[in-house]
Amino acid sequence: MTDVHSKAVRSYNMSQIKGKNTKPELIVRSFLHQNGFRFRLHCKDLPGKPDIVLKKYKTVVLVHGCFWHGHKGCKYFVVPKTRQQWWLDKINRNKVKDAESYKELIDQNWKIITIWECELKKGKIEITLVKLLNQLSGQAFTFSLTSSTTGASPYLRIASTIWAATALTTGTATEFPNCL
Ligand SMILES: [Zn+2]
Repeated sequence: MTDVHSKAVRSYNMSQIKGKNTKPELIVRSFLHQNGFRFRLHCKDLPGKPDIVLKKYKTVVLVHGCFWHGHKGCKYFVVPKTRQQWWLDKINRNKVKDAESYKELIDQNWKIITIWECELKKGKIEITLVKLLNQLSGQAFTFSLTSSTTGASPYLRIASTIWAATALTTGTATEFPNCL
C-alpha cells in the first residue's frame, strides 16, 4: 500500500520524532529568554522531563508537537497510512506518559502551561505568546497586529523571537542554560 501522505508531511512528521529542541520549543525558549525569563531545560529530576522549567514561577511549559503527542482534532495530527496501528500505539503510549507526568507535576504543586505546535503557526503565534506572557507575569499585556506603538511591545519582541529561533535552528550555538 502506498503512503498517501506527501513527502513534505511525512518528513515533517519524522522531524518531530526526537521531540527535544524542536523548532516550536526553540521559539518558546527564545521568546521567554528575550522577555527576561530564566529557565532550565528538560529537567531530569521532574516527572516527564519537562521542556522548560521556570523554577521561580513554579511553572513548567510543555511544548507539544501535534503529531507526536496526538493533538486531537488538529490538522497536524496526521497518522501515516503505512504502519498506522504501530504509529497509533506509539502515540497513545506518549499520551499515557503525558497524562502521568501531568498528574505527578500537579501533585508536586507545579503549574503546567501546555503549548501546542499548531498554536505557534502564522496567525496564531502572537496570541499564544502574549497569552504565555500573561500567564507567567500575571499582567494583562495586549498587542495589536496592525499598530505596535512602542519598541518594547511584546509584538516586536515576538517578531525578533521568530527571527532568533530561525537562527538557532540553522546551527548557531545555543545560549540557553542547561539543567545540569
Ligand atoms: Zn495541534
